[in-house]
Amino acid sequence: MKNIQSVVRLSKSCVGVEEASALARVIEAGYLGMGRDVQAFEADIRAYLQTEREVICVNTGTAALHLALCGLDIGPGDEVLVPTLTYVASFQAISATGAKPVACDVTAERGFIDISDAGRRLTSRTKAIMPVHYASNSVGLGEVYDFARKHGLRVVEDAAHAFGGEYEGQRVGASGDVVCFSFDGIKNITSGEGGAVVTNDTKLAQRIRDARLLGVEKDTEKRYQGERSWEFEVTHQGYRYHMSNLMAAIGREQLKKLHAFSEHRRQCVARYIAALRGVDGIRLLDFDHWQIVPHIFCIRVVNGSRNALMTHLRNLEVECGIHYQPNHKLQYFASNYSLPVAEKLAEELLSLPLHAELGDVEQVRVISAVLDFMRSKRA
Ligand SMILES: *Cc1c(COP(=O)(O)O)cnc(C)c1O
Repeated sequence: MKNIQSVVRLSKSCVGVEEASALARVIEAGYLGMGRDVQAFEADIRAYLQTEREVICVNTGTAALHLALCGLDIGPGDEVLVPTLTYVASFQAISATGAKPVACDVTAERGFIDISDAGRRLTSRTKAIMPVHYASNSVGLGEVYDFARKHGLRVVEDAAHAFGGEYEGQRVGASGDVVCFSFDGIKNITSGEGGAVVTNDTKLAQRIRDARLLGVEKDTEKRYQGERSWEFEVTHQGYRYHMSNLMAAIGREQLKKLHAFSEHRRQCVARYIAALRGVDGIRLLDFDHWQIVPHIFCIRVVNGSRNALMTHLRNLEVECGIHYQPNHKLQYFASNYSLPVAEKLAEELLSLPLHAELGDVEQVRVISAVLDFMRSKRA
């Protein structure tokens, strides 16, 4: 049986002829670097988010986080509060500035930063907090902003999972201090690789715009007019983090498909929930999948057999994953304290296949494989 069925992918870049012809147009025009396509993509994102806020596209989500922190002058001697249950990108972006990522625990219901634990980790060196929209959920953000206001912290949102979602009646990114998105190959939309920073802070936005082009002041403005900077000034550390026209061309096509992608992802999640809610040994996270564009679908296997279920699924050619092992357990980011909820979740969490091209038959295969396994555990 194993050999006649194809692998059910955990995640997938869903691109087609539209992206291919957009790329062909950029190649034909002969300007692959950062220029008017990037400007147009930024305008498209602004329109999509229904905001007048600043949008700055960069080459990865990690670069977006890094530049946001740099632009806020966060560096050596500073601390940034961050949930331990996140992709290592959040931690690396913080430590790249020279600041210390201070791992915080998360809530068992949503895997969102636990603000009371964050309170315990606060010191005079804390400059910012980086909430992660874990599994695309934004519930809990209000508490983060209350906490930040109270303690004079900046908020840099890691919204890598959350593009297209809504929170309190607005699109994620249309409000909030500094919001960072990722457009890597498997995120809600992709530009091949890519990311964006969205903020109201015009001074910060200018710093980021310059910093993505090696700190060359006003280079963005020149490139958007099809010109180059031959004489310029540099006043801050910069990086080679800009987005290219090639990437932007893919991203613009993807944005047009986001509505269809969202519907598909939500339907898949609805189907998982209908099949798996109430099953012995499985718990679901608490989120409203109609409000968000679900990037991943995680279940909690609470009967101690998560790893066995993973093996079972893999044997049936069903890919699955763990989002995430806690960062404070990694050697480079090791903490001298434990974070019990995240450590427990890390042993229970299992991500099932979810992407914009996941087929009905494939999803039925995933669900039956999970149900068969859980039944065999009960018997
Ligand atoms: C994908 C991701 C990032 C980083 O984005 P890249 O574009 O891959 O650099 C950061 N944080 C989280 C939670 C992510 O899932």
